[in-house]
Amino acid sequence: MKTGTLRVYAGPMYAGKTTSLLGELTIALDNDKRPLVIKPLIDNRYSDDDIVSHDGVSVNRVTGVKVLRLPVNDIPDLDQIEGIDALFIDEAQFFPNIGNAIDAYLEMGIDVVAVGLDMDSNGKPFGSMPVLLAKANRVVKLSANCSVCGDVATRTYRKPGVAKDQVLIGGAETYEPRCLEHWSPRNISIAPAA
Ligand code: ADP
Ligand code: MG
Repeated sequence: MKTGTLRVYAGPMYAGKTTSLLGELTIALDNDKRPLVIKPLIDNRYSDDDIVSHDGVSVNRVTGVKVLRLPVNDIPDLDQIEGIDALFIDEAQFFPNIGNAIDAYLEMGIDVVAVGLDMDSNGKPFGSMPVLLAKANRVVKLSANCSVCGDVATRTYRKPGVAKDQVLIGGAETYEPRCLEHWSPRNISIAPAA
């Protein structure tokens, strides 16, 4: 049996990751693939049971595909992937076990498209993304526009005064995309990581 491929779209907030997932899903449907689309249960921005881009585009409304919400410690089990050809994962950084499970899905011939934040707002590699990026057949690094200067934004800036937890679900009230210069120079150190 032909093995699947893993494609990863990574970047800061507002870079077009969810939009890219929708594009890949549309192509898969055009090619008569049977998809499973998942998102973390904790992501309730815009909608509980749908994936909606920051532009307000709904994955379910555009494609008719139902979005499965999973607790972050879960991965799609055998029943859920029975009969599917392609797995689409939004906010992939939040699923800590997905990096290990990927090999099994690929061996089963399932194509995987994973999109997520490559770094958290402290500039640290985020959750399962380093593993997914390492295992990917193809990686697309997306960028947004810096909210300060309009230049290419590769980082996600968390506005001052909000909680410091690594996982804090939020939108424009909490985060904005920034270039390295306008992100947080305070966070940049040449000392070895502790
Ligand atoms: P991601 O999934 O990477 O966070 P989406 O695909 O949901 O991004 O949305 C990307 C779109 O968000 C861009 O094409 C742009 O139209 C819009 N966008 C860009 N910057 C902002 C912003 N600061 N606030 C709200 N929407 C934005
Ligand atoms: Mg998104």
